[in-house]
This record gives sequence, C-alpha cells and structure tokens, in this order.
Amino acid sequence: MGSLYSFSCEKCDYYAEVSGGEDAGFEAATQTMVCDGCCALVDVLVGKRKGPEQDFDPIPPRCPNCRGDNVTPWESRLCPKCGSTMAEGSLTVLWD
Ligand SMILES: [Zn+2]
Ligand SMILES: [Zn+2]
Repeated sequence: MGSLYSFSCEKCDYYAEVSGGEDAGFEAATQTMVCDGCCALVDVLVGKRKGPEQDFDPIPPRCPNCRGDNVTPWESRLCPKCGSTMAEGSLTVLWD
C-alpha cells in the first residue's frame, strides 16, 4: 500500500502531494524525485510488477508532468523552487 503526504514550503508556498521517498503499491513502485525540467516534486514510476509473486521490473524514471528524464531522488527535503526546508504535512491519500 502506498501513501501520499502533503509537503509544503513555508517560504514560497510551494505544495506537493508525494510519498516523500520510496513507495510501493501492489503493482507499481514509485520514488519521490525532483524534476529539473519543471522544478517540481513528483512521484516517479520506477518499477512495475509482472505478476503477484514477482519482483518489480525497473522502469527508467521519467517525470509524469513533462516526461523529462532529468529527475533525481528527493533526499534533501528541500523545496525544488526556492531551496528552503519543506514541512511534512498529514497523510492525504492511500493508493494501491
Ligand atoms: Zn519554496
Ligand atoms: Zn518535469
């Protein structure tokens, strides 16, 4: 089961609903990344499961907004717009 959290920047009001790291649902694995193309936090599809008992098949990461491949894992917890630390908000969505 995957889960999304709301992250918000107090400095520039940027807001994103992402998992905040590696996440996996039943069929898909995602990772929260920063896209350099559109300067946004995005959950990128990084793996897909072929069958119930199988491992995830890796997928080359691409931004779901702009389809660019200039994405890097979001480990800094910094706002992609202004570089301030982002505050982790509440759990918003459970997906599967
Ligand atoms: Zn910001
Ligand atoms: Zn993008």
